[in-house]
Amino acid sequence: MPKVNYRNQAREYLKRAKAELETGEDHRLRYAALDLRFAIEALTYDRAQAYKNELLPSEYETWQPRKLLALLLEIDPMADKGGSLAVGVEETEGEPAPEMVPFGSETVFDLRLLKKHYDAIGNFLHVPTLAQAEKAPPPPEKFRQRCGEVADYVGKVLASPVWNITFGSFATMECEKCGAKIRRRMPHGQKTASAACFECEATYTITDRGNGKVEWKMDMVDVRCGNQDCDKVIHILKKELKPGSHWVCEVCHGKNVIALSIRHEPSEQAASAS
Ligand SMILES: [Zn+2]
Ligand SMILES: [Zn+2]
Repeated sequence: MPKVNYRNQAREYLKRAKAELETGEDHRLRYAALDLRFAIEALTYDRAQAYKNELLPSEYETWQPRKLLALLLEIDPMADKGGSLAVGVEETEGEPAPEMVPFGSETVFDLRLLKKHYDAIGNFLHVPTLAQAEKAPPPPEKFRQRCGEVADYVGKVLASPVWNITFGSFATMECEKCGAKIRRRMPHGQKTASAACFECEATYTITDRGNGKVEWKMDMVDVRCGNQDCDKVIHILKKELKPGSHWVCEVCHGKNVIALSIRHEPSEQAASAS
């Protein structure tokens, strides 16, 4: 599949949005907002193209920007952060080069900002509800200001010289519980990372064993049957260890309910005073 030039599309949408804003007419603000939303969507899809090999075709082809970005974050916790690159010549091996030439920094929409901008301009794209109309609808100046902020940000992202750099090594495996594919980028300089299955929410601890080898371990806990006369131990997923969940012991057939409890121990002073 050829790469779609979403960046060019975003540029076009931004140009149109700016032209709409420049008319100074309040009733044209909604068209500016629509173009800005399209620009945000195009940038998100462009970002997804950089991670194409890590996405399933179904996710890649059909997901909405917000879901897509959430998935990108799942794969790479750094996906919502801008990165910057610098290179330099090492004079002493292993030591940082005395002079580093920056390539520039990459500004990408971070998830929080994406949601904020996308939702905020989206709110203006509906006729005010009865409740909103009674309270006083949002003034057009506010809408204009918001559109201006979003346009500036989109412009910054588009002007960024370094685009769609992706670093780090991927760890991929099939969920032991449900078989879904789990992907996780190993964070830089970290030996362990945690990952969660998108489907069944089982959690894993990934350990870097060197030479590109990673070890996956499902987060399990051992829990002993609550019956004093029974010592059956079961292994459950860490995420299942929460108040309200229960299991029936296969040895004594009693029911164990997980609950939060506090055991109070009086201070030594209080104990010696009595
Ligand atoms: Zn799973
Ligand atoms: Zn038991």
